[in-house]
Amino acid sequence: MSRSVTILGAGLVGSLLAVILSKKGYKVTIYERRPDMRSARIAAGRSINLAVSVRGWNALEIAGIKEAIEPIAIPMFGRSLHMPDGSAAYQQYGKNNEAIYSVSRGELNKKLMTVAEEAGATIFFDHRCTHVNVHTNELTFQHEDKEVKVQADLLFGADGAFSALRSGYVTADRVDASQFYLAHGYKELTIPPAEDGGFRLAKEALHIWPRHNYMLIALPNTDGSFTCTLFFPFEGAEASFAALKSDADVQAFFLKNFPDAVELMPTLLEDFRNNPTASLITTRIFPWHMGDKSALIGDAAHAIVPFYGQGMNAGFEDCTVLLGLMDEYGDDWEKILGAYEQKRKCNGDAVGELAIMNFVEMRDKVADPVFLERKRLEKELGKMFPEQFISIYEMVSFSHTPYDTVMKCIKAQDALLERVMNVPNLKTIFETAAFGDQLKDWVAAYHTSVKDLDFGPAARK
Ligand code: FAD
Repeated sequence: MSRSVTILGAGLVGSLLAVILSKKGYKVTIYERRPDMRSARIAAGRSINLAVSVRGWNALEIAGIKEAIEPIAIPMFGRSLHMPDGSAAYQQYGKNNEAIYSVSRGELNKKLMTVAEEAGATIFFDHRCTHVNVHTNELTFQHEDKEVKVQADLLFGADGAFSALRSGYVTADRVDASQFYLAHGYKELTIPPAEDGGFRLAKEALHIWPRHNYMLIALPNTDGSFTCTLFFPFEGAEASFAALKSDADVQAFFLKNFPDAVELMPTLLEDFRNNPTASLITTRIFPWHMGDKSALIGDAAHAIVPFYGQGMNAGFEDCTVLLGLMDEYGDDWEKILGAYEQKRKCNGDAVGELAIMNFVEMRDKVADPVFLERKRLEKELGKMFPEQFISIYEMVSFSHTPYDTVMKCIKAQDALLERVMNVPNLKTIFETAAFGDQLKDWVAAYHTSVKDLDFGPAARK
């Protein structure tokens, strides 16, 4: 020991990584493009709030800030669906009352920065990395009107989807990199608190207005408001950002398609006009590291679309896996970074795919009766065969099962559920002894087909 560590980006993942490395005894310096959000009034970034699930909690616990975040986290035990005809339905997420938790991105990021500093890390704000020489680890920053050069020893790129370190990797030989934009973008809107300060919708749920090719969602904030996000095509004749040109277009569109939400959104027109329309990107890259010199982490390694609420959770899991490898390999960074890439690259790719698949589920399938029946059956199977069957959603959100394993289970679960759903008179036959035996065999066959996969450690929360 002990190498000094430079981290690009004091976002969620960079700050958490700084906590972990500082606690391990490394001298850590972070360079962050933006001013310090604890003193400047700046937006925290790409969403007001985000959902923390079990992988994220595990990392926060390791960083020692779980207790500090818990009071500002609102549990969401299920999806509340708002249909076009004004009716509503509710789908519980887990069979054991598990929840995902809505947390303010800004508060979480601020706390992580403070804990990183308390652990010994130094953060330089207003330093935008403009160039990385990936062979020498020489960094160039723009700071105010000056160019600043820094020589890094061990370097991590935690600087998000458009990472400067990632750009450096892309210029190197034998690096495969790709990016993919959805045809949809998003815009944040607001449902303010009720006059008495309470919530205008059920507080402990993630609200969805699924409309096939697009959707509106809302997550609760501790002040009684909800932050809504409209996921919507950029272009298209009728339902698209391009088509809604005037306030009148926006008002008419919302009244027609989200009538129950419009009533709760007094600032809809200002929000729609003033808030940016942002794009949704998925990135992949290989390799994730260069020898013992540098590595990508969080969105810099795997930017994904937000439909599984896993981007930050996956980035936090990168950090906890890295910590485990430090415990295993001491300060042999060649080994640590090689093993990190080997363990995490496949999971970064898998969670990216899962996220795109969940977009279709959220905006389209959740309103379909056949899909709802399937969800009900998944819960039944999970309760009847807890050792053998856990649904895909539960594996992603409530377990530490590697995302790559989750992807590998999808086909086998589809086959099992299809078998069960094709049984005639399913509702009445479910309870019969003969069907019970049949079901046992089918579930056992499913379990046999997946049981040798790596399911990771059991969930902790
Ligand atoms: P970022 O949060 O992007 O942080 C990167 C940091 O690096 C920033 O502080 C940035 O200013 C800094 N930086 C960038 N470039 C430079 C540079 N050149 N030099 C110096 N500093 C630089 N994830 C979830 O787990 N749950 C959710 O519910 C969820 N909801 C989301 C909703 C939306 C609408 C979006 C867009 C994303 C959502 N995500 C969610 C994903 C989540 O936001 C990201 O995965 C997470 O922010 C990644 O953290 P990061 O630290 O890797 O990158």
